[in-house]
Order: sequence, then C-alpha cells, then structure tokens
Amino acid sequence: MTSAAPLPLCSVCARQSAGEGGKDSIRVAAEEASFECALCFGILHPSFIDEVSKAAEAHLASCPYDATSFILALNLPTSQTLREQIIKKRFPSFNGILADIPFKVRNINAYLNKLQQASGLRPTLMSDLQLTITFENDDFLETDTEFLRRAFPHEFRSGKKRRQNGEENGNGEPELTKNRLQNMLGRVDEKLASTFPVEKAPSRPCKFSFAFERDPVYIAGRYCKYSRSLPQSPWSAEEDTPLIPGHSVSEKVTGPMAKLLGSTETRFVASGREDIDVRMLGEGRPFVVHLINCRNTQTLRPDRRVETLSALREAINKSSVDVAVSELALLSREVAEQLSMGQEDKKKLYTAYCYSTLPIDNAVLKAATRTQPLEIIQKTPVRVMKRRALLDRPRSIYTLETMPVDEHHFLVRMETQAGTYIKEFVHGDFGRTRPSLADLIGCEKGEVDIVELDVERVDLVWPPVDTRKKDEKKK
Ligand SMILES: [Zn+2]
Repeated sequence: MTSAAPLPLCSVCARQSAGEGGKDSIRVAAEEASFECALCFGILHPSFIDEVSKAAEAHLASCPYDATSFILALNLPTSQTLREQIIKKRFPSFNGILADIPFKVRNINAYLNKLQQASGLRPTLMSDLQLTITFENDDFLETDTEFLRRAFPHEFRSGKKRRQNGEENGNGEPELTKNRLQNMLGRVDEKLASTFPVEKAPSRPCKFSFAFERDPVYIAGRYCKYSRSLPQSPWSAEEDTPLIPGHSVSEKVTGPMAKLLGSTETRFVASGREDIDVRMLGEGRPFVVHLINCRNTQTLRPDRRVETLSALREAINKSSVDVAVSELALLSREVAEQLSMGQEDKKKLYTAYCYSTLPIDNAVLKAATRTQPLEIIQKTPVRVMKRRALLDRPRSIYTLETMPVDEHHFLVRMETQAGTYIKEFVHGDFGRTRPSLADLIGCEKGEVDIVELDVERVDLVWPPVDTRKKDEKKK
C-alpha cells in the first residue's frame, strides 16, 4: 500500500533504501534541504556528516585525550527509529543497495570514516574512550507519542515503577522512552503503518551534541597521616573546624593524580577513617582513588606504569609532610570495588595515650587486661548522634595491653574489631559503652580520657597481592 503523497527522502536514502523499487513512491529532497528526509532526518547526508565531524574535531581539540582509538555510540531521535520501522512495513518494494541494512548500522558506518579522519582516532569495538553523539529532533514527539498511545495503550499505563524510573512527563503521563519504543516496534504491522502520516517531513535539521567519556582509572595504595589536625576528607572535618581547601588526606592524595592524568573528577574511598586528631601510622590505611574521564592515561601503559606510579608516590609525599602514601597500584574496577566489602572483618590496632584524673595503681592497670577477647556493647556515641542512627552495637576488643607512664598517665594498646569507637571505649561515653576501660580500672569517682590516639595497623592485604606481583614482573 502506498500513500497518495510521496515519501520525502534525501538523495542518500533514495539510493540506499528506496532504489528502483521505490522510485514511484518518493520525492527526493533538495540537497540543501536534506533534513526533509522522512527516514534519516538528514543525519546520513554527507554535508551533515561533515558538519558533525568538524564539530567533533573542534571539541576534541579543546579537550584532547591521549587515546589512539574510540568506540562510537549514536543516540538517534526516537521519531527516526519509529519511522524506519513504519517505512519498512509501508514500502515493501524498496530495494535500494542498503535496504536490508539496519539504519543504525548504516549510520555508524557513514560516520566512522569521517570521524576517524577528523579525530585521528581509530574506530574500534574495544577502547577505553567512548564517543556518544546524540541527535535530536522533537518535531514529531507529540504526534508520535499520541499515535503509539492509541495503538498500544497498555504500554503507556502509569505505574509506580515508571514514576521511579523518571519515565513520566510533568503531567504524570509516561514518556516515549527508547526502551518503551523498542517494546512496541516489533508490533508495528502493515495495517498500523498504513495509518501513520509518514510523508510529513522534518521542518529543520537535527540538533546534535557530543560526549567523550573514558573508562575510570583506579589507583590503590595505603596512606599514613602524621597530623592531628587533618581530616580524611573535606566533609569529614568536624563541625567546629573551618574547612580549608586542600587540607585533607583525600585532596592531598588525589590532587597530584588528577593533575597527572587530567581527570575531570576524583573519588577517594578508604577502608574506614580515623578522626581528625588521630594519626594513621604503620603501613597505613588502604584506599583507592577513582579517576573519572582522564585525558592522559598513556603513562599508565604496562611498560611505563611502575615508573609513573613511583613518580606519583614521590609527588604526593613531597607535597605534604602530613601525608605519605605507599604501595600504589593500578586496579581493575572489579578489584577496586573489593575495598568496600568485608568492612566488618577488619581488625585494627590502636595505641592510646591516656590520662586519669585519679592516680592509678599499676596492679589495677594490669588487672584491667584480664579478659581477652573482651566483648562490649556500644550505643551510638553522643558525638556522632546527629549523623548516625541510634543502635546498640556489640564489638570485640581482641587484645588489650596497658603500660603505666606515670601516676596519671598510661598507654593502652588494643586490637579491635572494625567500627569500634575507641574514644568511647576508653572514657565510657556517660555509660553508653559497657564495659569501658574506665569501668575496668574502677574509675567511678574520677575520669579517664584519651590524650592522643594513633592507629598502628589496619589488617587488610591491600592492594591485593596479585596486582602488585604483576607490576613487579613488568619491572
Ligand atoms: Zn535520508
């Protein structure tokens, strides 16, 4: 069945799709008005491909990547995808040279060569750099949605899940999303296609936009912190301390990495955190930095990686006397994600320098360590009540050692379960931690508190051994 009005096609689609078999059903749009093509909306026309490629070249020149290849992804207008199916059903006589090739494939093929020339990057199916080009045309959005709503009312039923997925417009009506369209396309048959006003041409060329995105880079390591006035991250600074830009472990570690790799964003993930006034000593605390959309990753190629990571370590360690990193390693995403797992199993070793208002007898100090491991219950500490849920948490103190310094001062060394609030374990937090060290040394009438606290060890093999070995072999 053919419509009375001819189907407007650009010269490319007339040749590739319609061919001889379609010549009586179409009208070929003028070269300068190739956007009037009802099939490709002008996207396939050489002049438009040129325009897009030039814009991609300019875009890439303003923010270059040191990549050698890229993957191309195209976001085509939903109206265009719908028309491809309608035209296939409506004009079975079309026999152009590429009539059987899906439109998306024709598009990719048409763009790859030009984009390769423009960008100097090799198109491939395996690259860490993805270029997404989004084409937009909303001429038919309303009429297409209305057409499909009438044909497939069930697909447009409003639902809680759809609202959550943001698939509804402001009126509470479901939008025509790509996924929803795919569900319906297969059910567009000859009969339905014959009722679609496919001979209407777009009124203007498509708008287009680019997004280059590189796979994130993950660099793991361990950090030590030698300051008692440095927060782990800007937002972990306590409320009464002023926020100083750059004054945090995360910024001191991520800064030189972001600079070298040209990432647009970084995320610092550590295995737990110490308070601002607590030092992190020993082999340091495990961390991993997510570096998003890096411009330069060539320095992390296997043959240069060891050298680069060691230069990074030096740069970080030189830039601050308060922070030192070690064991830097490049990880895959899968391995990087392991850091957040099994938090509860990690043991931590602390040394606390304590003060007691009452003089303390050596024998009492010794007696306090009699029960090991020691099981305690901690209610959410007063000092974090505002930001944490109220819970009763059982925790284990695996080992406990005490050492007198003078009548009022002593050292405590303890190995604890992850998540134990150490300060509260020592002073008791107004009876919210039971038993506390203050309870154990019978300090009812006086007070015990921590003067200085250090984390000596965080028990976790990190970075995972196999990644380190691999790098050593490459050395
Ligand atoms: Zn066309």
